[in-house]
Amino acid sequence: MISNTYFQKLKAQLPPGVNLLAVSKGHTVQSIRALAIEGQNAFGESRLQEALIKIIDLKDIQEIKWHFIGRIQSNKVRAIVKEFDFIHSVDSFKIAKRISRIAGEENKIPSIMIQVKFRPDENKTGFLENQLLDEWANLISLPNIKIVGLMTISPIDLALDDRRLLFTQCRTLANNLGLKDCSMGMSGDWKEAVVAGSTWVRIGSALFGSKKK
Ligand SMILES: *Cc1c(COP(=O)(O)O)cnc(C)c1O
Repeated sequence: MISNTYFQKLKAQLPPGVNLLAVSKGHTVQSIRALAIEGQNAFGESRLQEALIKIIDLKDIQEIKWHFIGRIQSNKVRAIVKEFDFIHSVDSFKIAKRISRIAGEENKIPSIMIQVKFRPDENKTGFLENQLLDEWANLISLPNIKIVGLMTISPIDLALDDRRLLFTQCRTLANNLGLKDCSMGMSGDWKEAVVAGSTWVRIGSALFGSKKK
């Protein structure tokens, strides 16, 4: 088997405490399997139907932990709670409450990250910083979920220097809320995110190639 040289290089460059989430949306079960054999355990998917097929296919690799990183529709919450260990994209109190209730019914305690929008971006959902502060007491009182961090995505047109500022804002807010994790940084900006204090970089195209969408 040919090893994934980008994976090996990336692993060597990530400081201790920074986890790699391999974002496998749009990529095949075979490519996930190949990366799992090289030692990668955390995989991120953003479309539920596509993910469920892969999860079933890869049940034999017990080390794999699945992370949901896509927009969460209310009617998909049960399947997400059942199949995913981490949910990075909790973007409203309503969804958090639903995850909490269903997690109770399913005997699960998913680890959750709250998606925050630090810049106007019509393509993205997420809490505004003030909204999150307003809802915080309600969020942390929800049972059966473990809020471990914040997640953010940079607007696509933001320069790298500005992304570093945005990521620093996310880190600062997480620290103020007593949260360990920041899920931030993708193929094009993970270095800036790591400098700012990311603990989960979400990398897709740089690892798997950018062929499919
Ligand atoms: C697709 C996706 C990624 C990975 O993006 P790349 O630029 O391919 O590394 C990370 N985070 C989210 C939420 C995504 O949807």
